[in-house]
Amino acid sequence: MEKKVLAIFSHPDDAEIMCAGTLSVLKKKGWEIHIATMAPGDKGTAVNTREEISAIRKAEAKKAAEMIGAHYHCLEFEDVYILYDRITLNAVTTLLRIVKPSIVFTASPQDYMVDHEQTSKIVWTACFACGIRNMEVCEEPFEPVPYLYYSDPMEGKDIFGDPVKAKMYVDITEEMPVKEKMLACHASQRNWLLEHHKMDEYILAMKRFSANRGQEIGKTYAEGFRQHLGHGFNQENVLQEILGDKLVIK
Ligand SMILES: [Zn+2]
Repeated sequence: MEKKVLAIFSHPDDAEIMCAGTLSVLKKKGWEIHIATMAPGDKGTAVNTREEISAIRKAEAKKAAEMIGAHYHCLEFEDVYILYDRITLNAVTTLLRIVKPSIVFTASPQDYMVDHEQTSKIVWTACFACGIRNMEVCEEPFEPVPYLYYSDPMEGKDIFGDPVKAKMYVDITEEMPVKEKMLACHASQRNWLLEHHKMDEYILAMKRFSANRGQEIGKTYAEGFRQHLGHGFNQENVLQEILGDKLVIK
């Protein structure tokens, strides 16, 4: 198996909040890490133009990725307009065929923002389409379909406020310093919340949620995941093999 993982989320900072700790563990185990965002975070501002904030946020995402020696890719769609359509499916399938990951992480199928739910579905289909020859994509197909894992939704809940339970947890206690540093790279977002809340809510909220997930398994900090086990996807839990006792299944 090629030791390559792709974390593909909607916006800059989503991967840092939801799975940076796990990516850091994988990096230490010799995996090549890729972080991609569907959009450049062009709506994440109250002051800048779309062009300005996109450039700022892509630079922040690249810097965050570099903290764990990861590659950063932006697919250049737009915040709020991430659509399950032909162009988007072809772009994500193309990225998958270029990176050829064995493991893919993406957003939860239930989350607080439609962008996240659309990304989740797009990545599901793009993984399924990795080996399909007659796609409108130049890059060569590859097999097998990557192992696909969904991260937790924001605050671990769906839009009705019901908890979305994690099926497995990665102990990221040792990774919290690097996860915090990665998230802190997103200064535009952090400072925005800092002004609004008069405290470092950006970092605190991430640590609070990681601590909640940690508590569920008796660890200080954890990240939760669910594996895609639909027809056509690998059924074994490859993370268990790779992460050993850092992975806790509930
Ligand atoms: Zn997001």
